[in-house]
Amino acid sequence: MARDDFNADTKNRLAKRAGYQCSICKKLTISASEESNKSVNSTGVAAHISGASDGRGSRRYDPQISHEERKSIENGIWLCSEHANYIDRDEFKYSTEKLLSIKKEHEKQISLKHEGLDIKNGSLYEIEVNNICLFNSNIKIRLKKNNVFIGNNGTGKSTLCQIISSLENSKYLNLIKLKSKGQNGYFKLKFIKSVSSKYRVIVNSNSRIEYEVDEVETPILDSPVKTLYLEEKFMAYVNNSYDFKSITTAKKISKFFNLKKSELISLLYSIRNKRKYFIHDLEITNSKELEFKIKNSAPFLPLANLSGGESVKVCLEIILQLAIYFSKFRPTILLIEKGVIHSLDTDGIKYLMKIIVEENFLFQFIFVDYDKEMDYIYPDMNVLKFINENGVSSVKTIN
Ligand SMILES: [Zn+2]
Repeated sequence: MARDDFNADTKNRLAKRAGYQCSICKKLTISASEESNKSVNSTGVAAHISGASDGRGSRRYDPQISHEERKSIENGIWLCSEHANYIDRDEFKYSTEKLLSIKKEHEKQISLKHEGLDIKNGSLYEIEVNNICLFNSNIKIRLKKNNVFIGNNGTGKSTLCQIISSLENSKYLNLIKLKSKGQNGYFKLKFIKSVSSKYRVIVNSNSRIEYEVDEVETPILDSPVKTLYLEEKFMAYVNNSYDFKSITTAKKISKFFNLKKSELISLLYSIRNKRKYFIHDLEITNSKELEFKIKNSAPFLPLANLSGGESVKVCLEIILQLAIYFSKFRPTILLIEKGVIHSLDTDGIKYLMKIIVEENFLFQFIFVDYDKEMDYIYPDMNVLKFINENGVSSVKTIN
């Protein structure tokens, strides 16, 4: 019987959709060949899911489907030559359903990777909100590596930041519960690390919380991401004290981020020998007080003696270094509300965005800006606009 082979266009599209990587082992199947400066080494195969012909050795052959369907792109999967052989030896391990799901997952991974998300270390790529606070039904928000939330007050930006942070910090989950009283809603966080998984948090009308991971109920849920959320009231919280001894500040900052004070002090020590982005140097004096030097020519001063703009720089330095540190161990998201850093000028904000894009840190980034103050456009960022119409929030991508 004649084989229903794929044509060149179908093979080409399968390869491209798979990012020229084997859908099973992720091996790269293409490279430059040394034979000539035009040659290409290609080791990939457009393999049939349901066998191309009804012969001996054919696997997963389905007599019910037409010739057209058998040679269509839907019946193909891109593999390395080894796996192309392997799937044709074991149709129990690699059933039609199994191969279709491997293909779907792989193509999704490639497209998330194409958007700049870190698949290997893990990224949050979608948030779905149903009936929580100002969000009605089926709000889907796609996250990329670097994101900006823009909208007026009361459009749901902070609620979304709280949702993202709520799996890790019960303070935010309680806020969501309070805000959603009696609404019977849920939110879903879609996360990818090698494979994608869905974390669903259901807020019952009686404010009871239920969890599901990949549609299976679970009594306890550990957040797949570490979140560092620099919310608007942070600077007021740090500065609101008559005791301006910096060790007190260290205690406060560590409490805010759920850290031990000793961990924060170790971090500050380690910053001294690292590249710093917003300050020139810092000193930990004998009495364990912290002093910061903003510019090379400036003296070391405790946080309380710095100007508003300078103390913001110190806090940004700390949070940035925390995010760099945490992202070495687990997927991390850094969320910063513009209200925290309002004493920075436009150049300061531009500088923050520039290093976020250029340094290509391991962590994901979310910046929250007000619509009316949007005096800066965000190149290379995924900008999401939040709108409130008649008490209902919606979100749309604007670039
Ligand atoms: Zn392979």
